[in-house]
Amino acid sequence: MPDERAERVAQLVARLRVEPGSKVRLDRDFDPRDKVGLKKKDSAALLGAGVALLADYQQRLAAQDTYGVLLCLQALDAGGKDGTIRHVMSGVNPQGVRVSSFKVPSVEELDHDYLWRYAQRLPERGDIAIFNRSHYEEVLVVRVHPELLVRQKLPAEARGGDIWERRYREINDWERHLTDNGFKVVKVFLNLSKEEQRTRFLKRLDLPDKNWKFSAADVRERRYWDDYQRAFSEMLSATSTRWAPWYVVPADRKWCARICTAAVLAHTLMDIDPRYPEVDEATRKKLFAARRKLEREAPKGTPPDPYAARHPAETGKKSGKKKRR
Ligand code: AMP
Ligand code: MG
Repeated sequence: MPDERAERVAQLVARLRVEPGSKVRLDRDFDPRDKVGLKKKDSAALLGAGVALLADYQQRLAAQDTYGVLLCLQALDAGGKDGTIRHVMSGVNPQGVRVSSFKVPSVEELDHDYLWRYAQRLPERGDIAIFNRSHYEEVLVVRVHPELLVRQKLPAEARGGDIWERRYREINDWERHLTDNGFKVVKVFLNLSKEEQRTRFLKRLDLPDKNWKFSAADVRERRYWDDYQRAFSEMLSATSTRWAPWYVVPADRKWCARICTAAVLAHTLMDIDPRYPEVDEATRKKLFAARRKLEREAPKGTPPDPYAARHPAETGKKSGKKKRR
């Protein structure tokens, strides 16, 4: 890949990253309408290039089978998580990606520690896992609605002290453990304004084929807007780490949110720089023997290696055209 493109991705991503250790406030430090230097007229070409890049890297990630990637997507309702996943992952081999959406926890899930259900959905080596909502709900919705914490059946000693500080630490430790063992964790917050959320809710009411997305509960949740902004700000400040940073993506413009998310994921993969496994001498000999055997099986009148005969430039074989007599 040209260095120039890698450099542009790195610059864009650096603008979105929450500096580890910094204290941020959503309303003061981030603008949901920001275009981060991008132009809408270029957006289709840019996203197309990003999608192609991701497809190529994902193929190498799978072939190398050493690292896994976890992308956590968080947003307020109507923040555009579903559409972002659909567009950003549109070129990637579905076999190498697993999307998990986390809803209100089940009885079985509540019978375990709060990270248990997320651990079940982690990527395998070679795979990209996407969390549509993630373990961060455990310091967001659960914080804004303390009755949800009561349902988690924690023993008294686990409820004492500053439970949120403790959860931040536990989450950071968990992510560090994953990173140290070859699973890169990358976290995107789609930052939507209250007015754009209102517009999107109304669109769901206006258009019949969007009605199914409308939820009266989502509208009720707007009452807690300020509480969520505070919870998000604290979460971003406490859990953007060197090993698993947060990226705040301006989300009022869907095209911008998609390009930024693709860039963050591409940057993570570039950092891993997965390579196709090298073939050692012993394996090369085995491949050569297998080739000879297959070539000898060519029916009369066909080239020994039909693929090489059709693609001489790609395979570097001049002799491919020779027919068997
Ligand atoms: P949606 O993603 O729109 O289908 O909604 C999923 C719902 O599940 C949202 O209202 C979330 O707030 C809720 N949810 C997700 N994770 C949790 C959690 N850990 N505890 C309680 N509610 C959750
Ligand atoms: Mg919803």
